[in-house]
Amino acid sequence: MAIQTVNPFTNKVVQTFDEMTDTTIDVLIAQSEKTFSTWKQTTYKPRAEILHKVASLLREHKEKLAATITLEMGKLIAQAEGEIELSAAIFDYYATNAEEFLADKHLDPEFGSAYVRNSPLGVIFGVEPWNFPFYQVARFAAPNLMVGNTVLVKHASMVPQCAAAIEDLFTLAGAPNGLYTNLYISGERASALVSDKRIKGVALTGSEAAGASFAAEAGKYLKKSVLELGGNDAFIILEDADIDKAVEWAVIGRINNNGECCVASKRFIAVEAIADEFLEKFTEKMENLIVGDPMDPKTELGPMSSEEAAVHIIDQIRESVDAGATILIGGTRSDRIGAFVEPTILTDLKPGILAYHEEIFGPVASFYRVKDEAEAIALANDSDYGLGCSIFTQDINRGESIASKIDAGMVFINHPTWTQADLPFGGTKNSGYGRELSELGIHEFVNKKLIRVS
Ligand code: NDP
Repeated sequence: MAIQTVNPFTNKVVQTFDEMTDTTIDVLIAQSEKTFSTWKQTTYKPRAEILHKVASLLREHKEKLAATITLEMGKLIAQAEGEIELSAAIFDYYATNAEEFLADKHLDPEFGSAYVRNSPLGVIFGVEPWNFPFYQVARFAAPNLMVGNTVLVKHASMVPQCAAAIEDLFTLAGAPNGLYTNLYISGERASALVSDKRIKGVALTGSEAAGASFAAEAGKYLKKSVLELGGNDAFIILEDADIDKAVEWAVIGRINNNGECCVASKRFIAVEAIADEFLEKFTEKMENLIVGDPMDPKTELGPMSSEEAAVHIIDQIRESVDAGATILIGGTRSDRIGAFVEPTILTDLKPGILAYHEEIFGPVASFYRVKDEAEAIALANDSDYGLGCSIFTQDINRGESIASKIDAGMVFINHPTWTQADLPFGGTKNSGYGRELSELGIHEFVNKKLIRVS
C-alpha cells in the first residue's frame, strides 16, 4: 500500500510519501534505544511536563489537526475535533496519574520483606490504524512514555500527514530526539521488524490478519504483545428498554466515525415484544441521515476512509445477500463522487451468511429478532469476536446480570461501547488481548521487578 494522502471525499491523491530505507530505520531504532538509556533514568516530573505540553499543543492546534484527520480519512469534522480533545485528555491523564499507578507495591511475604517495582522495558513498537489517527496513538504512546519506555510508531499508510503532525508535536513539546519516532514503512516490513533485538515489546491495533502476522513474529522472538483487533459488537434491546433512547443510541453506535469503529454497535438484537417498534424507528432514522461532505458541520455520515474500503463493504453486502440476507434499506454506493456507502440495514441473517460472522466496517447494521433474553445472550455470544456489547433495559440489576454472561471485554448498559482515558479498553477471543487506557493500560509494557530484602 502506497504511503499517501488520498481525500476520500474526492478520491484525489493529495500527497505521496517515500518509504524509509532499511538504513534509515536502523539509525532511528538506534536513536530510540540511545534515548531510552537516559529517559529511563528521568523522574516522572519531566516526563509529565512533556506529555502535558503535547496535550496543550493538541488543544492549541485543534482545528488544523482535525482538518488533517478529515482530509486523510473522511471523519466528520466535529468528531475529528472531539478526537483531538480526547487525545489531549489521554496525555494529561497519564501525565497526572502515572506516578501513582506505578508506585512500588509492597508485599507481605511469609519470610523477609518485599515489594514490586515497575521498571521500563525499553523501545516499544506500535502499529496503529487510520480510523482514529490521533487517539489510537495517544493511548499507546502516553502510558509507555510515562513508564520510561521510548516508542516507535508505524502509522497506517493512508494517514501520513497525521503521523507527521504527531511527531512534530513531540518536537515542539521539547521531547528528546528518539523519544517518539515515526517509521514510514509497509505493514509487512513492520512485522519483519519485530525480530529486531532492540525492540522489547510490540502493540498493534487493526485487522485480525495484521494482528496475527505481527503477534506470530512476537511469539517467535519471545516479545510481549498487545493486540486490539476487530469487533462485531451486539446491541441488545430488551422489552423493558426505553425504546426511543435505544434508537437514538443505536444510530450513534452504528454510524459514529462513519461506522469505521472497532467498537461500533454492529449486530442489533431485539426481543420479539419490541422488535417491530425498534426496527421501524431505527430504520426511519438511518434512512434520513444527511450524507455528504465531512467538512460540512450539517453532515451526519461522511465517506468511508478509502475507495477500497467502500468497495469491500459493498462486496460483503453482496455476498451476504447472495447467501440469503435481505437489504431493508441501502446496500449500495451513493451516486456521488467519493468513497460513499449508503446507510444500510440487513435482516434475515443466520449462521453461514457473511454478515452474521464478519465485521462490516461501515454504516451497515445487522438486525436480529429473538424470542427472549436467553436467546439474545446466546446470539450475542455466537461470534468469533469479543470486543464490546451494549444492553438496553430499564432494570439495571438485570443489565448487570446479563453483562456477566456476555463474552466480551467491555459491556455498556444503556449506552453503546465507548472510550475515555480512565476506562480500560480491549477485548477477548479474536478481538485481541491486553488492555489499553486506564490504570490497566500502563501495566502492559513494564518489568514488574520483585525486590526482596532478607
Ligand atoms: P490493517 O490491519 O491492514 O491496518 C492497520 C495497521 O496495520 C496499519 O498500520 C497497517 O499498515 C498495518 N499492517 C497491515 N498489515 C500488517 C502486517 N502484516 N504486519 C504488521 N502491520 C500490518 O487494516 P485495514 O486498514 O486494511 O482495514 C481492514 C479491516 O481491519 C477493517 O475493515 C476493520 O475490519 C479492521 N480494522 C480494525 C481497526 C480497529 O480499530 N480495531 C482499525 C482498522 C482496521 P498499512 O496501512 O501500511 O497497511
